[in-house]
Amino acid sequence: MEREDDVARMFARMDALIDELAGSGPRIDPHTHLGLDEDGMAQTLEELVGNLDAHRIERAVAFPLHDPDRGENYTVPNDRVLEWAAQSNGRIVPFCRLNLTGDPLTEARRAISLGASGIKLHPRAQAFSVDDKRLDPIFAIAAEHKLPILIHAGRGMPPIGDQLATAAERHPDSILILAHAAIVDQDRIASLVAGRPNVVFDASAWSPVDLHGLLTRVPPEQLVWASDLPYGTIRESLLSTLAVLLEVGASREVTAAIVGGTMDHLLRGEHAVLSAAPIAPRERVVNLARQRVGGYLVALLPSIWQRRPDYVGHFGLAAAVCRDDEGELGSVAELIILAEATWTAALERAGTERPTLDDVRETFELLLAAWVFAYSPVTQRRWEALA
Ligand SMILES: [Zn+2]
Repeated sequence: MEREDDVARMFARMDALIDELAGSGPRIDPHTHLGLDEDGMAQTLEELVGNLDAHRIERAVAFPLHDPDRGENYTVPNDRVLEWAAQSNGRIVPFCRLNLTGDPLTEARRAISLGASGIKLHPRAQAFSVDDKRLDPIFAIAAEHKLPILIHAGRGMPPIGDQLATAAERHPDSILILAHAAIVDQDRIASLVAGRPNVVFDASAWSPVDLHGLLTRVPPEQLVWASDLPYGTIRESLLSTLAVLLEVGASREVTAAIVGGTMDHLLRGEHAVLSAAPIAPRERVVNLARQRVGGYLVALLPSIWQRRPDYVGHFGLAAAVCRDDEGELGSVAELIILAEATWTAALERAGTERPTLDDVRETFELLLAAWVFAYSPVTQRRWEALA
């Protein structure tokens, strides 16, 4: 029981830190999924709303996963998301997902008439290019209804920075949300669309360094916090985003915009309100012990996601870095040791099976917090002050 109590205490403290850093403005999540994915991932309306309630999230945009029932046009999963949103008391903002091989324009019109408040495009899963001319009428109908378009720009694709920039340029009236901090081609796309108030990046990228890198290229108001539930978690994504904002010296107003204010504008069909320039310099001085901890923890992520043991021993290597004389990384080591104990217990419970998704999330959130505090000394000090 002792370990479970420690984990619960750590999570409560993380939530307190999130509250302290986020301020009291509305929190709006622009990127969540509902339903079922071919990869086995799933999220019900009750699970999503439970997650929103647990973290004081006012509203979340939701769209279908890569649903086995998608057919040519995503009609069935789109209808399910629209129906769930209708039952959600305004907590869920439904976006429709489209597929270019079917009849996306008819499906977009149909879904918008039924209440879709935006469009999700997934160039990898649906195998199309974002500057495909067949998308022009989709961008046009979204602009006509002032609805944002969220585009997958994460892993698993060739670099598409130039195509995204072309699309943003060709459709200045469309509001584009580039998912996963556009890590598919971040530096290229960010330098091409920096300062465009119709293009924002969502922060669901796991890595604080990816977010920090983005903020060296674009004004901070071009970032919006996002969880990517059920793949990411609210706690992990908020903590990482807020740590980066604290680290780069973002003001309380800018932070409030990133946590929800900007999405509120975008969902009303307004563009983001941008300041002049990026606030983070391209260079950053990093303590090497902190960088080593981060490297070992990042190397652990695939084991956790694939629900495997830590064969290499990265937990131990990361914790060992923290055993320096000054004890500066002691609070980071505490999280690493707890994450390892939690993962070991999950593997033991699973026996010949794999740990559950809840097990993955528990270890992942502890591990991510350790990484975030190793990355950001100023956030680590705020964490320690809450002990
Ligand atoms: Zn997603």
